[in-house]
Amino acid sequence: MAAERAADPDCLFCKIVAGEIPAARVHEDDSVIAIRDIAPRAPTHVLFLPREHIGSAADLTVADGPMLGALFGAAADFARSEGIADAGYRMVTNIGQWGGQTVGHLHVHLLGGRSMTWPPG
Ligand code: AMP
Ligand code: ZN
Repeated sequence: MAAERAADPDCLFCKIVAGEIPAARVHEDDSVIAIRDIAPRAPTHVLFLPREHIGSAADLTVADGPMLGALFGAAADFARSEGIADAGYRMVTNIGQWGGQTVGHLHVHLLGGRSMTWPPG
C-alpha cells in the first residue's frame, strides 16, 4: 500500500473530491473519481484523478500501481460508454509549469470525440 497522502486544504481537486466544490462526476470508485472538465477542449473532455492528493505524475511510485490501473481502466470503460472508444482518443497528464499543469493535483485528461493533432502545442 502507498503511504496515505494528506488532503491539501488549498487544493481545488481535493475540494472537489471532498464534495466541497461541485463538479459533474462521471465515475467514482475507492481510489479515483472522474469529472467533466469545466472548460472542455474537445467534445468529450474528462479528468481522471486520484482521491488522494498526489501533486503530479512526478510524485508517483510503484505503490501507486493499483490506483493507476483503476484510473486507466475506468477511463477505458468511460470511453466505451461515451461512444468514443472505437474512433480513438487521447489521455495526457501535464507536469509542472512548462508541461502546462495548472492544478497541482494529479489528473489525467481524456480527450475525444474529434481527431487529435500531434505533437501537442
Ligand atoms: P492542467 O492544466 O493540465 O492542470 O488541467 C487542469 C484542468 O482543470 C483544466 O483543463 C481546467 O479547465 C480544469 N478545471 C479547472 N477548474 C475546474 C473545475 N472547477 N471543475 C472541472 N475542471 C476544472
Ligand atoms: Zn489535492
